[in-house]
Amino acid sequence: GPDPTLRPEPRPEDADRALRPQSLSEFVGQAEARANLAVFIESARRRQAAMDHALFYGPPGLGKTTLAQIMARELGVSFRMTSGPVLAKAGDLAAILTNLEPRDVLFIDEIHRLNPVVEEVLYPAMEDFALDLVIGEGPAARTVRIDLPPFTLVGATTRLGLLTTPLRDRFGIPTRLEFYTEAELVQIVSRAARLMSAEATPDGAQEIARRARGTPRIAGRLLRRVADFALVEGDGRVTREIADRALTRLGVDHLGLDGADRRYLMLIAEHYGGGPVGVETIAAALSEARDAIEEVIEPFLLQCGLVQRTPRGRMLGAAAWRHLGLAAPVPRAA
Ligand code: ADP
Repeated sequence: GPDPTLRPEPRPEDADRALRPQSLSEFVGQAEARANLAVFIESARRRQAAMDHALFYGPPGLGKTTLAQIMARELGVSFRMTSGPVLAKAGDLAAILTNLEPRDVLFIDEIHRLNPVVEEVLYPAMEDFALDLVIGEGPAARTVRIDLPPFTLVGATTRLGLLTTPLRDRFGIPTRLEFYTEAELVQIVSRAARLMSAEATPDGAQEIARRARGTPRIAGRLLRRVADFALVEGDGRVTREIADRALTRLGVDHLGLDGADRRYLMLIAEHYGGGPVGVETIAAALSEARDAIEEVIEPFLLQCGLVQRTPRGRMLGAAAWRHLGLAAPVPRAA
């Protein structure tokens, strides 16, 4: 066979893909979502019908794509994948829909970023498995309805609030994904280490889990970096000591916060006295996109109580002051 040393270094997405659980029983965490999906999958199989449309929402890296792939596999159908921003024209979506096989799973990532014209195509497709095509122009134009094979749409979004109501209402199975517990992430890290043929001690796996921001994708990324340090600077084993040293050098602190998180917290502490301060102001001061702040940075900080959302803007929680090693300001009398 080919010389394995000539193979290109796998891209990070490939490394991610190799770690993806393949079945619901292999999928760790999200117990409630998993139990419900198991029922809906089994019911669809017995009825030999397409499963109802599902919407997965929650922060990036929690397993939305992975769950959709597992659904297709367990339903015994093909998995087709696209994303909101990629579907520029109505025809792009029509082409995908007309090529589906009965009961296939169509996954649309970032579904909150669909072009409105494309979204219009989706409504009859989801509701009636039909495509309304406009033929001709001007007064001679007419609409023809084309039947589609019954299919399951799985939409994924990090921003449920940005979905239009008509689109949201067409999903029979809205499912919120939660941050993972440390114990769940220990299982995920241990399994990933085995798949990478890296030896991780239990406290090594735990150290990575504790600092992975409740997110499997981050856990996988941190594990790969720690394994690099273990190989070069240790005896190859992912131990707590190596994990701590590697993560500290990478700027990941004990809560799992990275440089971007700390800059966000420091800005509110030092320039706005702990808030409240509007997210637009924060975004401008940090030169970050507001979306990135709301989708990537804030969910975990909110979950930890480091930040609170108030009607007047973001405010630091007491834990944030402690974490930054700063004294919280004494509230002024009104
Ligand atoms: P999302 O679509 O929500 O951004 P993904 O499904 O792409 O997240 O998951 C990111 C990575 O995290 C996957 O490649 C997979 O390796 C890992 N992962 C996600 N959820 C789990 C899980 N429950 N168990 C093990 N690994 C997981």
